[in-house]
Amino acid sequence: MSNNPGFDCRKDFPILERKIHGKELIYLDNAASTQTPRQVVDTIGAMYFTHKANVHRGVHTLSMEATGLQEAARAKVADFIGSPTTEQIIFTRGTTEAINLVASSYGELLNEGDEVILTQMEHHANIVPWQLLSQRRGIVIKVVPITANGQLDMDAFKSLFSPRTKVVSVCHVSNVLGTINPIKEIIDMAHRHGAVAVIDGAQAIAHIKVDVKALDADFYLFSSHKMYGPCGVGVLYGRKELLEKMPPYQGGGEMISHVSFERTTYADLPYKFEAGTPDYVDIAALTTAIDYISGIGLDRIAQHEHDLLQYTTEKMLQIPGMRIFGTAPGKSAVISFLIGNEHHYDIGLLLDKLGIAVRTGHHCAQPLMQALGIEGTVRASMAVYNTREECDNFIAALNRVASMLG
Ligand code: PMP
Repeated sequence: MSNNPGFDCRKDFPILERKIHGKELIYLDNAASTQTPRQVVDTIGAMYFTHKANVHRGVHTLSMEATGLQEAARAKVADFIGSPTTEQIIFTRGTTEAINLVASSYGELLNEGDEVILTQMEHHANIVPWQLLSQRRGIVIKVVPITANGQLDMDAFKSLFSPRTKVVSVCHVSNVLGTINPIKEIIDMAHRHGAVAVIDGAQAIAHIKVDVKALDADFYLFSSHKMYGPCGVGVLYGRKELLEKMPPYQGGGEMISHVSFERTTYADLPYKFEAGTPDYVDIAALTTAIDYISGIGLDRIAQHEHDLLQYTTEKMLQIPGMRIFGTAPGKSAVISFLIGNEHHYDIGLLLDKLGIAVRTGHHCAQPLMQALGIEGTVRASMAVYNTREECDNFIAALNRVASMLG
C-alpha cells in the first residue's frame, strides 16, 4: 500500500474491495464500527464448525474446548489492558451494557442525593443509564462543560466536586470531537474526592494503549466491534474490591453458586456478572482481533491514523465554508464537520453516492449537539486500513459536494 508503509493490511478486509454505486468503497465510519479482518471471521467459523458447545456446562470435550477458548480470550483481554487478574474482566454485549451494569449495580450502593459527574461530550450510553438510576434512587447528575475547541473545562470540572460526589463517568475519547481526555488526571481527581472513576473506552481501545493498572481506573469499558472484532461482545474491567461488593446485575444460570427457593448464593467473579450463556463464539474471536491489533502494534496504528488526520484536516480546511467541530491538540482521528449551513444528511447522502461511507446525525450525543448549537454533523473517522489516496479521494468528493450544494 503506497503512503501506508508497513501497513499491508487491506487484503485482510475483503469488504474494502466492494464497490458502492459503482465507486470504490472508502470506509470512513470507523468510529461507529471498524471492519473485521478475515482472521477474526475465520475464528468465528472455526468456533461454529469445530468447537461449538455451551461453555462451563459440560464434561465433554467440545464443551471443555469452547470453555478453554472463552477463558483464553479473558486472559488475552486482561493482558491487553493491563488488568492484574482475569476475574476482573467481565464479558458483556458491549460498552452500553457494561455502563448499564455499572450504573445499575454500583448504583445500588449509592443513596439519594449522592452525585455523579458526567461531561457534556458523553455518548447517550454514558448518560441515560445514570438518568435511569437518578429516577430510581434520586442521585444527582452534574455535567462538566466543554471549551471552544472541544476539551473538558478542567477548572469547571474541579469545581463540581462535593462531599456527595460518588462517581465520575467520562469518555476516554469523544466519539464526536475526537478529543482525548486527560483521564489519568480525572481518575486521580475522583480518587482525591473519594469517588470512583468509570471510563468509557469505546473510542480509545483500538487507537491508544490502555493500561488500567497504570491509570488506576475503577471501571474501564469497551466494545469489540470498534476494535476489528466481532459484534455482540464488550468488556467491563472493574476494580476487584468494587466488583466484589456490587450486587449481581442480572440473575440466571452461570452467575450462581447455589440456588434454592429460600436463598441463592452467587458465583465468584467474573461469573457473578455473566448470567446466561455468553456469546462464547464471538468472545473467542475477540482473541484474534486483539492479536491482529498487537501484530501491527497500537503505536504504529496511532501514528498512521494521526498522519491521516493531519493530512486530511489541512486539506479540508481549504474548502470554503468548512466548519470542523473539535480541534483539541493531539486529538484522535475523528473529524466532525459541516459545510456552511448545509444539512449533514445531504452531505452524507451525496458522499455515499461517491462511494464514501461517513456517519451523519447527532452521533448519540444530543446534549453535545445542543452545546455546539447544531443538530448534527458529518463525521469521518479513520482506521488502520485507510490510506492517503482514500483521503485525497474524500477531499475531492467533498469539493464536489460543496460545489453541488452551492
Ligand atoms: N460510548 C462511546 C464513546 C461510543 O462511541 C459508543 C458507540 N458509538 C458507545 C459508548 C456505545 O457502544 P456500543 O453501541 O458498542 O455499546
